[in-house]
Amino acid sequence: MQTIAERINSALEGITQVATSVHRPPNSVKLLAVSKTKPVSDIIEAYEAGQQMFAENYVQEGVEKVQELAHLTDIEWHMIGPIQSNKTKVVAEHFHWVQSVDREKVARRLNDQRPDNLPALNVCIQLNIDDEDSKSGVKSGELDGLVQFIESQEKLCLRGIMAIPKANPSEEEQALTLGKLKELYDHYHKSLANFDTLSVGMSSDMNAAIKNGSTMVRIGTAIFGKRG
Ligand SMILES: *Cc1c(COP(=O)(O)O)cnc(C)c1O
Repeated sequence: MQTIAERINSALEGITQVATSVHRPPNSVKLLAVSKTKPVSDIIEAYEAGQQMFAENYVQEGVEKVQELAHLTDIEWHMIGPIQSNKTKVVAEHFHWVQSVDREKVARRLNDQRPDNLPALNVCIQLNIDDEDSKSGVKSGELDGLVQFIESQEKLCLRGIMAIPKANPSEEEQALTLGKLKELYDHYHKSLANFDTLSVGMSSDMNAAIKNGSTMVRIGTAIFGKRG
C-alpha cells in the first residue's frame, strides 16, 4: 500500500509530466486535494507531505474540519459541493474559496455574509457543461449573467469556472466538452483581471483535463483512496 505522501508525489509527478508534454509549465496546474469523507488525520498526513490546498463537499463536515485544523493557518480551504442558501453564512465565514456557485441568490448571500475582517471570498462559477439534468451548475446560456452579477459584488473575487464533465465519455465527447470549457475560460480570462482558474479534472480524467488547459485538478481517490 502506498502512503498518502507517496500518492501526492505521484499526482504531482503526473501533473508535471502531462503539462510538460503539451508545453505548459508544470506550475500552471494546481493540485487540490479533495478530502471529503476522509478523517482529519488523513488531511494532516497530506499537509505534512507539503499539500496546502484542500477541498470539501459537505458544508457541515467541511466547517468542522476547518475549525479543527484552524491552527494550520497556511491551509487554503475550498468548498466544492452544492450549497443550500441557508448554509451560506458558515461557508462565507470559514472557506477561502467556493467553487460551486451556481445562482445569484447564493452569490449575493456569500457576499453579504463574508466577514468584514476577511479578504474577498474567491469564487468559481460551477458550469453544467454537458447540460446534464442530474448535475448542478449553470447552463452555458446563463453563465454570462452570473459572471456580471458576481463581478458587481464587493466581497467576492471571481476566479474562474469549475466543471464536472460527464463520466465515461467517448474520446470525441471528452474533447468537445474540454474544448468548450477552454474556450469559455479564455474568453473571460482575457477580459477579467482575476479570472485565472479553470477547475476541471478529477482522478479519472486528470490527464485529459491538463492537456486541455485545466489550471486546477481536484483529486480525491488518487490521493486518499476509495471513499466508503
Ligand atoms: C469528489 C469530488 C472530486 C474528487 O473526485 P475523485 O474522483 O475522487 O478524484 C472532485 N470534484 C468534485 C466536485 C467532487 O465532488
